[in-house]
Amino acid sequence: MKLFYDFHIHSCLSPCGDDDNTPNNIVNMALIKGLNVIALSDHNTGKNCPAAMAAGKKNGLVVLPAMELTTSEDIHILCLFEKYEDLAKLENHIQNTRLKIKNKPEVFGHQRILDENDEQIGEEEHLLIVSSGISVEEVAALVKGFGGIPVPAHIDKQANGIVGILGSFDYNLGFELIECTVDSGVKLPQITDSDAHYLWDISEAEHFIEAESCSAHGVFAALKRMCRQGE
Ligand SMILES: [Zn+2]
Ligand SMILES: [Zn+2]
Repeated sequence: MKLFYDFHIHSCLSPCGDDDNTPNNIVNMALIKGLNVIALSDHNTGKNCPAAMAAGKKNGLVVLPAMELTTSEDIHILCLFEKYEDLAKLENHIQNTRLKIKNKPEVFGHQRILDENDEQIGEEEHLLIVSSGISVEEVAALVKGFGGIPVPAHIDKQANGIVGILGSFDYNLGFELIECTVDSGVKLPQITDSDAHYLWDISEAEHFIEAESCSAHGVFAALKRMCRQGE
């Protein structure tokens, strides 16, 4: 079955994400746009994923747990998962490698952690948009080791894109899927996402994947199949 997707959306936990990007608002906007599946991908954290997944479950939208990891070279890697437990293990692993700089909400924005009713249950104290200690050489194997799919994010963008930073795409780094809005020339299967920081930027029902079922398991299996196609 065809499932319309947007696998790259930021919530109000990303300092650069709008405060209106709450788990329920994101889920409802995705449904208005006609999407079947989204992934919530905040910078270097997955702490709003449980709320978004619960909101999705209540409203009939598949929500994959994800994060947008920043490598030590400042390259953004979208890390997609089927299960939150696996994403949480990755977060645990990178947590101690991140620079510890206190967030200044008045400068960078709030980093709110919400529950499934959009009630605030915490605020991340340290700035999330900093590099982790994970290098681009090790990131693909690391994410795969935790059961995730590593996807170089927005590779057509100069800022924080793998090609812009390294100068060219290196096929030996272990990536099997890329994220791009245009034909990048990179010979790997591609997904196209919004990288929405505001509700209205969430994708229209435009890009789809073929999955066997409309579930996290079905979508993740379809993404894995796309990865293997590139081999
Ligand atoms: Zn990014
Ligand atoms: Zn992003």
